[in-house]
Amino acid sequence: MIIKPKFRGFICTTAHPEGCEKNVIEQIDYVKNKGVIDGPKKVLVIGASTGYGLASRITSTFASGASTIGVVFEKSASKNRTATAGWYNTASFEKLAKESEYYAKSINGDAFSNETKEKTIELIKRDLGKIDLVIYSVASPKRVDPVTGEIFHSVLKPIGKPYKNKTVDFHNYNISEIEIEPATEEEINQTVAVMGGYDWKLWIDLLRQSDVLEKGAMTIAYSYIGPEITYPIYRNGTIGKAKEHLEATAQLLNDDLRNINGKALVSVNKALVTQSSSAIPVVPLYISLLSKIMKGKGIDEGCIEQIYRLFSNISNDNDLKLDDKGRVRLDDREMRSDVQSEILSLWEKVSTDNIRELSDIEGYRKEFFKLFGFGYEDIDYEIEVDQNVDILDIN
Ligand code: NAD
Repeated sequence: MIIKPKFRGFICTTAHPEGCEKNVIEQIDYVKNKGVIDGPKKVLVIGASTGYGLASRITSTFASGASTIGVVFEKSASKNRTATAGWYNTASFEKLAKESEYYAKSINGDAFSNETKEKTIELIKRDLGKIDLVIYSVASPKRVDPVTGEIFHSVLKPIGKPYKNKTVDFHNYNISEIEIEPATEEEINQTVAVMGGYDWKLWIDLLRQSDVLEKGAMTIAYSYIGPEITYPIYRNGTIGKAKEHLEATAQLLNDDLRNINGKALVSVNKALVTQSSSAIPVVPLYISLLSKIMKGKGIDEGCIEQIYRLFSNISNDNDLKLDDKGRVRLDDREMRSDVQSEILSLWEKVSTDNIRELSDIEGYRKEFFKLFGFGYEDIDYEIEVDQNVDILDIN
């Protein structure tokens, strides 16, 4: 079929297999050029198909030569529908990993379910024996409790009082003011149930009980803090409560992992364009300004640059600097005072009329479409492509 982007707000309902492959190849090339990291060799990535999870899988494989199992939740193509971007990314990743003789298999299923966890453990036992790193990189709007069947929904809302600020529609560059009503107690609890650390702990408990964690195994989950402008909607909002829970879970897991000498870490990453972050009000405008400033200073990073830096740091304990709450801070460059003070001054001035000069909104939009394989100059989007692409080793 001929595949063009079809989008509604921050959702793109089509994806281009060749463009997604290019996105994967660019990340692999980056890692190969940067060089080898002496890192973990048997890695499980939960949420491995896009964003930070995909970058983690690519870095594990192409920098450290790891065998990887990726847990993904994606849809294959049908007669008149493309597959999801994460499906195409996973297909390309597996193909390229295997061409370079690396082990790579994927499990397609709901990471929150017992069934997916059990399948994954079976596969680890059968193929790898034990694993030495578990990356937890799931971002989801809902979670079904594996025991009670209750469905929890996450919301992106402030807590306590309404929040009013500028936001941008990145398709027409229109800046408007948005006012979001505060979350109810129930909405806060549900968001924590989805995006907090409950499922991360269930995974690690089960992996531990099944004796598939190597001595000294490590697990890492990703978090975000961000600047004061976004505090009401992010860090002090419903999602921030979930991140606090995730961070507190790392402490519990550290206790649980002590007898195998293991470690649980939270890495606070930089704000970046991903399918999940584009859904958060105000954040796309913030990322557009951030990217303009960081590019200007030559310090900008994407998912792959961030994760390569993370893996280099964890491979060398001396480089692993933790903050006072025990977290890795990959957001150090984003949070630099010179970067943040420039954002604050631009934030006051930015409007529909000057957004193209003051921010990197065009870059934001480009990055958004790249997530779905669109916007590559050397791909002819008028040509028919086969939307049916198989993932080599999917369960
Ligand atoms: P993303 O949307 O690109 O990736 C989310 C991943 O979760 C995808 O691979 C998706 O398939 C998977 N997933 C969702 N529901 C699933 C389910 N039920 N079962 C299995 N897999 C499922 O998002 P991202 O931005 O890379 O987010 C990953 C983590 O990084 C999140 O914890 C997020 O909060 C964190 N983070 C993101 C940013 C940012 O700006 N994007 C910054 C810091 C931290």
